[in-house]
Amino acid sequence: MKKKAIFFDRDGVLNKSIKKKGKPFAPTSYSKFYIYKNLEKKIDKLRKKKYLLYVVTNQPDFNKKSKIELNKMHQKLMKKFKFNKIFCSHDKNNFSKNKKPRTGLIRHLLKSKSIDLSKSFVVGDRWRDVDFAYNLKCKSIFIDRKYSEKLNNKPDYICKSTSQAINIILNYE
Ligand SMILES: [Mg+2]
Repeated sequence: MKKKAIFFDRDGVLNKSIKKKGKPFAPTSYSKFYIYKNLEKKIDKLRKKKYLLYVVTNQPDFNKKSKIELNKMHQKLMKKFKFNKIFCSHDKNNFSKNKKPRTGLIRHLLKSKSIDLSKSFVVGDRWRDVDFAYNLKCKSIFIDRKYSEKLNNKPDYICKSTSQAINIILNYE
């Protein structure tokens, strides 16, 4: 039987983004990596509802050298939230197949046809996440962190925090 999944974005969803002039940026070092509080139990509830839990993140600014820092961040996320997998793209080309909003990064997962996308969600804080959901034909939950940038597509749901986004999923069905 096909399973339902949740694709979480990382920065601004699981951990704080660094805001500069109204735009969000990924923390560049582990010491600046702050995970939002009180999400463990909520994410556990999603697991109990039989969702597969993935992170899909674009990290174009990390090169080979700085990847050690990035790995530390992802180890921490895995330890805390026990995701099924973290998919991370380092592509700098905005039109790359492997970068959100395109879906190449999770192509193997999609090929396996094990996921019912119509019952799955993308949770994110930027237009790329909403468009990623649109390309996957998943439902989109947009966390509005009041950045100075516009959306391309209309999200299915809009909320103000990750905790609210999870509530939307828990109340769905
Ligand atoms: Mg983000």
